[in-house]
Amino acid sequence: MGKALIIGCGGVAGVAIHKCCQNSEAFSEIMIASRTKSKCDAIKEKLQDKTKTIIHTARVDADHVDELIELIRSFEPDVVLNLALPYQDLTIMDACLATKTNYVDTANYEPLDTAKFEYKWQWAYREKFKEAGITALLGSGFDPGVTGVFSAYALKHEFDEIHYIDILDCNGGDHGYPFATNFNPEINIREVSANGSYWEDGKWIETKPMEIKREYDFKGVGKKDMYLLHHEELESLGINIPGIKRIRFFMTFGQSYLTHLKCLENVGMTSIEPIEFEGKQIVPLQFLKAVLPDPASLGPRTVGKTNIGCIFRGVKDGKEKTYYLYNICDHQECYKEVGSQAISYTTGVPAMIGAMLIMNGTWKGPGVFNIEEFDPDPFMDALNQWGLPWEEDFHPVLVD
Ligand code: NDP
Repeated sequence: MGKALIIGCGGVAGVAIHKCCQNSEAFSEIMIASRTKSKCDAIKEKLQDKTKTIIHTARVDADHVDELIELIRSFEPDVVLNLALPYQDLTIMDACLATKTNYVDTANYEPLDTAKFEYKWQWAYREKFKEAGITALLGSGFDPGVTGVFSAYALKHEFDEIHYIDILDCNGGDHGYPFATNFNPEINIREVSANGSYWEDGKWIETKPMEIKREYDFKGVGKKDMYLLHHEELESLGINIPGIKRIRFFMTFGQSYLTHLKCLENVGMTSIEPIEFEGKQIVPLQFLKAVLPDPASLGPRTVGKTNIGCIFRGVKDGKEKTYYLYNICDHQECYKEVGSQAISYTTGVPAMIGAMLIMNGTWKGPGVFNIEEFDPDPFMDALNQWGLPWEEDFHPVLVD
């Protein structure tokens, strides 16, 4: 039994809140706090009669450490689950330090003015968290998140050494719009319009955006084009998986999405450089976000499945071995259960699980940790229990 403070009330938080309320044995009380309090009140209204979890709501601007500290002191949670945007990671970590409260998030810190996500800012908090005797769990979504847990599980049970990891993120869902993003458009477009990169022999190999393309036949979805992207878990897995030679990340994109993105890029709409417009400074990408469909509204319209997982190659008992761990998730099933599409679902479920394992002390230790540093077994069990069952393939088709 414990208390969680959930910050943010968007697509991912909506799912995590549903899941906490389904799991009221672990989450006896939650506080939902976000910039727009009416969203927190609406979800409380929807869920409070269907759960034993006691739900509170508050308004907070998570860019302000003082406001966060005041809120944490008044609620005294066992864990803060940060489901706002990556820009808020450091202020929330500062507030956790000041109040000696455990911290969990799903995406690493990114400064507003440079689209570059790296762990260095959050890893810089290691000593401070250690001294305060509290735990920070970084990246408890699907990717990063489950992909790190899958890697730790493969290493623990299936390999003596893992040499190659290919993370494949396939969204076979169709929302019927010519162009929309499945999670926060600003974060999504910053991610996919950046240069790609992968980790090989201890260093980064950089590629142009979408330069490397492969086709893969995904179980539950079928054949899709996928493109190599930089992704944040490559950085921590490159350090935490001993003997690793190469890690790559691929994500599927449909032709319509790519054509629209190219066009928006060509006309400058994806830029994060502020421009002057009618006497006001505006950021083109933030304006674009305002005119695109809200990801939370895609739920009822999205059909199809996601398939996200990791293909491992390495050695066991002196022999070469391959192993594929993945989850298939159905957009419409998610919508029926929690009112959102599978992208938010596959992130919100692991966020709840990470918060639960930190809250109940299954995962503990003072400091700042990436998810693959903890014992994967309880997380793997919880994935099966809470809606993201995993499947294994001992003879997967490899990506060249
Ligand atoms: P949304 O844009 O749907 O939700 C973000 C929420 O944060 C909104 O409720 C927003 O408030 C709130 N927020 C933003 N700024 C502040 C602030 N300063 N103070 C308080 N609240 C604030 O995003 P998603 O739910 O799609 O994504 C949430 C997080 O999950 C992101 O960090 C994203 O990168 C991450 N993510 C991780 C994935 C993974 O697999 N690891 C996959 C997908 C997403 P308001 O309602 O007022 O706008």
